This record gives sequence, C-alpha cells and structure tokens, in this order.
Amino acid sequence: MSTTLERIAPFTNEPVKKFSDPQEIAEMQAALARVKARFGERYPLVIGGRRVETEKQILSRNPAHKSEIVGSVSSASAAQAEEAIELAAATFESWKRESFELRAEVLFRAAALMRERRYEFDALLVYEVGKNWAEAEGETTEAIDFLEYYAREALRYGGEHPIVPFPGERNELRYIPLGVGAVIPPWNFALAILVGMTAAALVTGNTVVLKPSSDSPVIAARVVDLFEEAGLPAGALNFIPGSGSVIGDLVVGHPKTRFISFTGSKEVGLHINELAAKTAPGQRWIKRVVAEMGGKDSIVVAADADLDAAVEGVAVSAFGFTGQKCSACSRAIVEAPVYEAFVERLRARVAKISVGDPSLPDTGMGPVVSESAFKSISQYIEIGKGEGRLLCGGNAIGDEGYFLEPTVIVDVAPEARISCEEIFGPVLSVHKARDFDHALEIANNTEFGLTGSLYTTDRAKIERARDEFFVGNLYFNRKSTGALVGVHPFGGFNMSGTDSKAGGRDYLLLFLQAKSISEKLS
Ligand code: NAP
Ligand code: MG
Repeated sequence: MSTTLERIAPFTNEPVKKFSDPQEIAEMQAALARVKARFGERYPLVIGGRRVETEKQILSRNPAHKSEIVGSVSSASAAQAEEAIELAAATFESWKRESFELRAEVLFRAAALMRERRYEFDALLVYEVGKNWAEAEGETTEAIDFLEYYAREALRYGGEHPIVPFPGERNELRYIPLGVGAVIPPWNFALAILVGMTAAALVTGNTVVLKPSSDSPVIAARVVDLFEEAGLPAGALNFIPGSGSVIGDLVVGHPKTRFISFTGSKEVGLHINELAAKTAPGQRWIKRVVAEMGGKDSIVVAADADLDAAVEGVAVSAFGFTGQKCSACSRAIVEAPVYEAFVERLRARVAKISVGDPSLPDTGMGPVVSESAFKSISQYIEIGKGEGRLLCGGNAIGDEGYFLEPTVIVDVAPEARISCEEIFGPVLSVHKARDFDHALEIANNTEFGLTGSLYTTDRAKIERARDEFFVGNLYFNRKSTGALVGVHPFGGFNMSGTDSKAGGRDYLLLFLQAKSISEKLS
C-alpha cells in the first residue's frame, strides 16, 4: 500500500454549515452580494489553457428573477470542440505519466481552495440554479467530499494490488488511465456532480473535455478556474460549453474520445450510449460509457410506520430543491389502513413549505430551473389532474421567476403517466396499496431503479425490502435524498443508469484499465 496514503488522515465528510450563527449568515450574505456584483460577466472557453471568447454566447439566467443574467458564457463551435479534443489527446501523453500522488495533490489543493470559497460557491448555486441556502451548502460540501475522497482513492488504486504468487515469476497488476474523456454533467448538481465526474477522470490520469449544462455554465467556468489554480496543467481540462445536440454529439462521436462520463436524463443518456457504440473511422477502441440517468423514486409507508416521520420524510424528499433531484421522492405508496391519515397529515405539512426567492435565508422552496422545465412540469400537473385528485398546489406563482407550488396528486393508479414518467419538479403522486406485497409491487413497477425508502417498524418488512426493493440506493426510516460521499455510494439500476456508485470504492475503476505484467525470473 502506498506510503503517501498512510500519511493522510482517513476520509471524513466535510461538516455542513447550518447558518445558525450570525457569523455564517453574514458571510453568506456578503458572498451573495459579491456574486451579484459580478452578474453579467463574460466567461470564455478554455482550450489547452488558452481563453477563447466567442461571439455566440449562452446567457445563464437567475431562475428566481428571469431578467437577471448571472453570466454570459462563450459557446464553442464544432471546430473549437475538435481542437479541444485534439489538445486533450496531446496532453494525455504527459498527464498519464504523472504519478497518482501528484494528481491526488491537485485534488487536495482544489478541495482546500473550495473550502476557502465555499460561501461563494453556495451563492453561485443560489443564483444560477435556484438552490436555497441549505441545499447550496449541502452541495458545496459534497463537492469538497468528492475531491477529498477521490484523491485518497487514487492513491489506493495507484498502490500495489494483491495477486497470487507464482514460482519463478515477478507479477504485477497496475491500473492505467483510458485517454480523453467527454464529461457531460447535469445542472441540478451543477457543482458537486460536475466536480465529482471531472475529478475522477483527471485524478486517474485521463484528460477531459467538459461540456457543461447550458443551464449552469457559470458555475462550471468557476470550477475550471479553480482546477487551474490548484495546479492542473494546461490542456488536461478543456472547457467547451455549447448546445447539447451539436457539441454533445460531436464529442461523443469523435474517434479520439475514449470514454463518456454522463449524468442527466434517460433520453440523452440512451442517445449517447447508441452514438458511442458506433465506431468512427480511425477509432481504435470500444468507447466506455458511464451513464447515470433519471429516477422515479418511491417511498413506501407501511401500516405500522411512525406516520409523522413518514410524512416528514416524504415532504422533504419530494420538495427539497423543488423536487429537482434524481433521488427525489415522486411517489408515496401507502398501505390502505393508514392511507387517509397519511394524506391528511401530508396536506398539512406541505402547506407549511414557503416558496420564494432562494437568496433569502428562510426560503423553503425556490423556483424550477428554466422556462422549459417550468412548461414541462406544468404540463405534467395538467395530466396529473386527470389521473388523480389534486390534493394541494397545482399553480404557478407570479411571473418574476419560474415558481410553482408544491403539488400533490392522490388516488393515482400505479401505471398512470405521472406515476411512471420522471417529471423532475415539485410534483408528488400518492398511491394506495392493498397491503405490503402490493406496495412493493408498485414500487418496482417503473423502468427506473434509483432510490427508494421504506418507513416501517416491522423488522420482517425491512428484511423483505432489503432483498426485493430493486433500487441502487435503498433507505429505511429516512428520506430518499441526501446520499453522502463514501457513506452511501450512489447510482441506480435499470433505466436509472450504469450503477456507477459515485462516491464509492468502485467508481475510479470506471476511469481506469488494468495491465497485468509478468516477468520470468532467471
Ligand atoms: P439532460 O437534459 O439530459 O442534460 C444533461 C447534459 O447532457 C447537459 O450537459 C446537456 O447539455 C447534455 N446534452 C444534451 N443533449 C446532448 C447530446 N445529444 N449529446 C451529449 N450531451 C447532451 O439532463 P439535465 O436536465 O441537465 O439533468 C436532469 C436529469 O439528470 C434528470 O433526469 C435527473 O434524474 C438526472 N440526474 C441523474 C443523476 C444520477 O446520479 N443518476 C444525478 C443527477 C441528475 P445542454 O444543457 O446544453 O442540453
Ligand atoms: Mg439559470
């Protein structure tokens, strides 16, 4: 095992600021003001370390005040995306030769820089994607965790690996990087997922072309700057914002792209998987695709559950960050004997959620991210009104931003559209199950398999669900969101993706290939 690893303290999760003391509140308010003072600033492409301004710009809007432009980000042309891939391929020849220790050092320094600027990143998340303070701080903390965790994991993969001794030979197994990776993250964890995917690819010795989401390119630009400050050499991380269909298809289809690390919707993930399977002229490998996709996550409430805890868990999981988490509870499945009581208590709990501007400290639920999200969720609410009974919500609030009420639709059939399709907004369907068997059957009836929770006091039900509830992240008597790096490695089954288990011990392996080396001893 690496001696470097032994000198480094074991990984622990970064403590989350609670904004309970006035000092923390003052620092957050100052950071919000600093970020606001930079509204409208322009951010260039970064290709081989060179900053390139383009005429075409992506305007990133504050979803709480749609007239406010958080930043204006250059949009890469096809030629610039190609150039980025070529430079990443050239840089791979040197970056792959650096030690795991040196590359881990870059991540440790990036973590330290992010810790120093945590409130600034929190504030960027508030303004660019509409997170409230607590959700933003949770995300920045997760980004720091990914850096710290993957740095240690790189040292472990870079160390010695046990193999069976064989007489007369000196044998070794070592892990080497793959090549140029296209990293394509979503906007909903604009910081943490982007940092995790990028850091994992880089620390293992690959070089990256990063195509951020067009809904959160400013945070992405700030992360690229931070990696550079942390000592990443020019050309290792190239930044090419642009249209998903144009630039995305180009980087996925390029013969010099060795792997694609994607997190986003099922539709785009499946499209990438198909495109990556085609061999381009001159291509010398089978592209590897890591695709983490959508969810339709259930919380099962058994008849014997602590009902108040279940109501709280469902409300927090369904409406935290406006329901825009892949792990969000979008279906509550309740056993018949407690169904009516659950529904009444849920109505009362949801009524307490305050919707408003997330830059204010006490906001519970902010806006949805964009006009297209707003429209698509609003359509689902209309569909839902025909598929069940509207318990609460259902309306837009004002027209300053993309605000929707937290919406609950009850008495929904298990195979209804709002029960099976990912809505990705503050919409929850509630289902009555005849008994626990029926509840599990409903929970497993979608094509997804990401997260799920069960509230019960019955040990036998827990043991059954352990085996039969088919999700990548299963929770008992707690919310379905809030996976912690290292503690709850994250990723789903079926159409939720390739079960990469981000923040777990298997993750870095996805960015490596193993080389077995045998020398005959004379
Ligand atoms: P999305 O619309 O699928 O976009 C994800 C990324 O793909 C964006 O950067 C997007 O760029 C890009 N893209 C779009 N078309 C592309 C193409 N043809 N080729 C290559 N890239 C393309 O997803 P999103 O709205 O950003 O994120 C929400 C989704 O992510 C939800 O479905 C959620 O469940 C899922 N998610 C899953 C996990 C998980 O761990 N399983 C975690 C978080 C989120 P543009 O923005 O420019 O279109
Ligand atoms: Mg925006």
